[in-house]
Amino acid sequence: MNQSTEEIIRLLASEFGFDLCGFAATGELHEEFERLAEWLDKGYHAGMAYMERNQEKRKDPGLIAEGVRSVISLGMIYNTPYQHKDEEGWGKISRYAWGDDYHELMWDKLEKMCIRIKELYPAFIYKYYVDTGPVMDKVWAVKAGLGWMGKHTNIINREKGSWFFIANIFTNLELSAAMPVQDFCGSCTACIDACPTKAIVQPWQVDAGKCISYLTIENKGGISTEFNDQFEGWIFGCDICQDVCPWNNKFGALATEESFKPRNGETSLSLQYISELENNHFRERFMRSPVLRAKLKGLKRNAEFVSRSEEKGSVT
Ligand code: SF4
Ligand code: SF4
Repeated sequence: MNQSTEEIIRLLASEFGFDLCGFAATGELHEEFERLAEWLDKGYHAGMAYMERNQEKRKDPGLIAEGVRSVISLGMIYNTPYQHKDEEGWGKISRYAWGDDYHELMWDKLEKMCIRIKELYPAFIYKYYVDTGPVMDKVWAVKAGLGWMGKHTNIINREKGSWFFIANIFTNLELSAAMPVQDFCGSCTACIDACPTKAIVQPWQVDAGKCISYLTIENKGGISTEFNDQFEGWIFGCDICQDVCPWNNKFGALATEESFKPRNGETSLSLQYISELENNHFRERFMRSPVLRAKLKGLKRNAEFVSRSEEKGSVT
């Protein structure tokens, strides 16, 4: 029996190490775009000014490339069976950043996968994004059936949990769209209740300016004393809302990708080590690691904030 295009793409996705694959028909986003506009109006994007740009493309992926009709949404699990060192004097690194940077790894796999699709379908036009770019990546992941958006705004897959990266390929191929996935958050509020900075201001709305993930990575300024005693030892990102989610406790699947395992087995770093770290060693230790994004200055700021969180005065 002949395989459908969707079946062929699913097989290729699996061959290239993607754990989830689904399809959606593209078109203008209305409700989702309004929610984004409201989030921006409230200033919940904090210092991420790039979120204000390319609004037309975010709304209509048809503007990304000519003839775009569908999106192939892919998920790659990064969860590994390691735990943080949760001790005084140590700073925790978010689970996604323990190993190698996922962008380059996924771009490489996406390009190879697209070349294979093009060999089979020479008219195939594609443009892919991992996290960056003017697309509402989580919205497309939901539309393609990868999961539902949890109240913490991460996508949850019923069988695999939420520890996965998302990639989207926008293409001119016409692919059968997925059925919408039911929202299984129900009456649960575990993520909202556990967030130490109250950054989940209401279900499905995170104020980045209060989120430890933003404050320790994207934030280029200081960290306000209003967050003293609230970081719970996080110095790069924060996993709390996903850690407490029952869907991760029950089904948090494990990565097959070796390079997502913690480098040197380290899931947390000594605050003393960071305070003494010099730029050349930082670049060497974190080469091709997501931690580079914070830069040494940011990492030192975070470590100092966690160390001094009970003292008065902001750390800049
Ligand atoms: S990542 Fe941490 S700070 Fe941000 S919303 Fe989740 S629990 Fe709150
Ligand atoms: S912790 Fe509960 S409310 Fe939050 S995302 Fe998970 S299931 Fe949904």
